[in-house]
Amino acid sequence: MLRYLNLYGLRGLRIVRGYGQYVWDINNRKYIDCHTGHGVAFLGHVNPRIVASIREQLENIVTLSSSYDHYLREETASALEKVTPRKYSYFYLLNSGSEAVDFALKVARKMTGRKKFLSFTGAFHGRTFGALSVTWNPKYRRPFEPLLDAEFIKFNDVSAAESAITEDLAAVIVEPIQGEGGINPASNEFMKALREITEERNVLLIVDEIQTGFGRTGKVWASDLYNVYGDIMLAGKAIGGGIPVSIAFLRDDIGNSISEGDHGSTFGGNLLAMAAVKASVEVLLEENVPFKAETAGLRLMKGIKEICRDIKIVRDFRGAGLMIGVELRFDPKPVLEMLQHSGILALKAGTTVVRFLPPYLINDNDIDLIISALERCLSEENARRANVGAS
Ligand SMILES: *Cc1c(COP(=O)(O)O)cnc(C)c1O
Repeated sequence: MLRYLNLYGLRGLRIVRGYGQYVWDINNRKYIDCHTGHGVAFLGHVNPRIVASIREQLENIVTLSSSYDHYLREETASALEKVTPRKYSYFYLLNSGSEAVDFALKVARKMTGRKKFLSFTGAFHGRTFGALSVTWNPKYRRPFEPLLDAEFIKFNDVSAAESAITEDLAAVIVEPIQGEGGINPASNEFMKALREITEERNVLLIVDEIQTGFGRTGKVWASDLYNVYGDIMLAGKAIGGGIPVSIAFLRDDIGNSISEGDHGSTFGGNLLAMAAVKASVEVLLEENVPFKAETAGLRLMKGIKEICRDIKIVRDFRGAGLMIGVELRFDPKPVLEMLQHSGILALKAGTTVVRFLPPYLINDNDIDLIISALERCLSEENARRANVGAS
């Protein structure tokens, strides 16, 4: 019997369809989706405008080597230009976040002629050999060593960065808000220091916005929250409305020094992905997505703040826009299960964090439901733990 090799924990739930901020199971039970396939469905499931654009392309031509011209390439470029920080003048399309990270690491080596990378505790950049080399979690890394030469220093530690960023580095790679690592926002001071020190020592700064990017944090890019921009910026997850696609944005001189043969990808930049990205940018702008994410995020955060005050098992809560984490004092699995029973899908981050990555479409009613369900689940778990502790 041929079986699918599943490498994620199973939720015991069979989903049959999704629309907007909701998914439905086999019994037609509706869930508010704050999991969104690790943040992918941020623009909503089956977003009608993105589907229409993909469908049109599907019936026209799907695959075309970048050796041939097609109007969609110019249209995608001019759509993306409206949301790309002025710092960047090239973009390159790949198929997954990890691939974009690998590409950025290659580019950094070529640009600098140096080999070594610097990353941070809690960092997550993907699972391919390159991306894994700068991913912190030893559980993911150890079985596959040796990897690329990378050093890890404490996230948000400015003085550690001062001494670790030396002229023998090719690049520093950072998530402005660590996702998988536990929803850990970088401090303003830290992002500014990384930018200043890398510039001073001629080291490239790669900003990984694969999870934070495209409106998720209430700005188009989390870089906008800090007003700090890398030399290379990476996007993925939400940018194709569900179609697998990633983007590397490059500074002008970097783009100019990468040439034929330096990289390539059979599916990278395919027309289906372009149709998806172009429509996604249109949705982002015309629907005012970052503003809606900011507004909904503030309401959700306010509710979480109110309920968490008196619950002992909650250690902290943090995030920006619709990227929110509630840190517990233990593994969040039982709380995630209870939330699922209450009709809310969420996911784990780090070892102790309940992570919410809902679509920008969640409305006040959805948010109130999330807050009341979370309060119920946390209180129940709190009481259960207190009883276990007492007996
Ligand atoms: C998900 C993620 C990646 C890896 O993306 P894949 O598409 O799974 O390869 C890289 N960096 C960050 C910040 C991510 O959240």
